[in-house]
Amino acid sequence: MSPSLNHCRALDTSDPLRALRDHFVLPDGVIYLDGNSLGVLPKTAAARVADVITREWGQDLIRSWNSAGWFHLPQRLGDKIAPLVGAAPGEVVVTDSTSVNLYKVLSAALAIAAEDAPGKKTVVSERSNFPTDLYIAEGLCRERGYTLLLVEPDGILPALIGDAAVLMLTHVNYRTGAQHDMAPLTAAAHAAGCLAVWDLAHSAGAVPVDLNRAQADFAVGCGYKYLNGGPGAPAFVWVNTRHAERFQQPLSGWWGHAAPFEFTPGYRPASGITRYLCGTQPILSLAALECGLEVFGAAEALGGMAALRTKSLALTDLFIELVEERCAGHGLGLVTPRDHAQRGSQVCLSRNEGAYAIVQALIKRGVIGDFRAGDPSTGSGQAPSTGSGRTGSPDILRFGFTPLYIGFEDVWHAVEHLKQVLETGEWQRPEFKQKHAVT
Ligand SMILES: *Cc1c(COP(=O)(O)O)cnc(C)c1O
Repeated sequence: MSPSLNHCRALDTSDPLRALRDHFVLPDGVIYLDGNSLGVLPKTAAARVADVITREWGQDLIRSWNSAGWFHLPQRLGDKIAPLVGAAPGEVVVTDSTSVNLYKVLSAALAIAAEDAPGKKTVVSERSNFPTDLYIAEGLCRERGYTLLLVEPDGILPALIGDAAVLMLTHVNYRTGAQHDMAPLTAAAHAAGCLAVWDLAHSAGAVPVDLNRAQADFAVGCGYKYLNGGPGAPAFVWVNTRHAERFQQPLSGWWGHAAPFEFTPGYRPASGITRYLCGTQPILSLAALECGLEVFGAAEALGGMAALRTKSLALTDLFIELVEERCAGHGLGLVTPRDHAQRGSQVCLSRNEGAYAIVQALIKRGVIGDFRAGDPSTGSGQAPSTGSGRTGSPDILRFGFTPLYIGFEDVWHAVEHLKQVLETGEWQRPEFKQKHAVT
């Protein structure tokens, strides 16, 4: 027998992280399982941003670059992210988007590889990596004369042998929720004379990460997913200190200059991570992101990322168990690994037919997850995903579990709604087949 609603309520009552939920605006009637795509609003954010606008901007004007500490926000926020990803103070800055930062670090990695391992001309990544990562790599490879080699997970180690200059991976896969083991893959890359670049978009704030212990070379991550920084929040960058005085980033703007207010004509990079900045920073967005990061400060007193991870695994275990028992016989498959070591903080279910409409029907009921189309590049021979007319792996229903604010009772109700949507055939209503621009 799967856990009862009362059992789930008891789990919430004894949850040591329960109080963290009070830091967020959680709309009535909504069970939000999409924090892996856009995190929720921290309660402090609206007033903080209003204060930055009315007082810091409105009254103090340009003086606020100094008096309100605007100038150092990228570093100050970076220091708040550092403990979440196993970095030291001064090793992380918050700036630009994940895509732009990936361009910068991959370019820096290629420049180092060109010196240390001249002749190596391949960038290795995973075929199912997030598309923007692959697009950025594709563009850079074309520009610099490299080959982008895309492999399946079990093809990563073999691909490192020989010609690989850089291994570029996303730690937790956005479509499947599968997590790579960062330390051994980084070690294998180094043993093959190759640098390791990690994207932490689905890891930072969701699963424990230890960049320094893994001896990774470069990393980027996202501000608006598990860090709850708001739509389009700036992203972050980390570089291993062994490269800190050596790497060149390609977007050599004045904010990454050693002395921007000397206004000298020649570029001289700032020391360390500051050289990853390019131009003037979005202060309003940084202010909102800081509110999201402050909640992790409160979480630290309750056990930090280790406690959040324990809860995240309990939530995803519960969801899997309830779905498998209560929604049995409805054609749902489990895509996310059962093995805790290989699981991020989301659960993805596959279905050959109707995944999009099922997600829409759930959203109508207030259970917000999302849909990702079947991967056309894998799983050939599987049934075509209905509606898209393509062959490939089945479509995916994706549910993110942010342990800061999702409770066990939420999981129970989400599965109950899923069960009702499937049993009643509600998802087959025409309104749920209407495709929106953002899925
Ligand atoms: C969400 C995500 C991004 C987002 O990049 P943006 O530049 O913020 O649009 C990039 N990479 C991965 C792996 C992601 O999950």
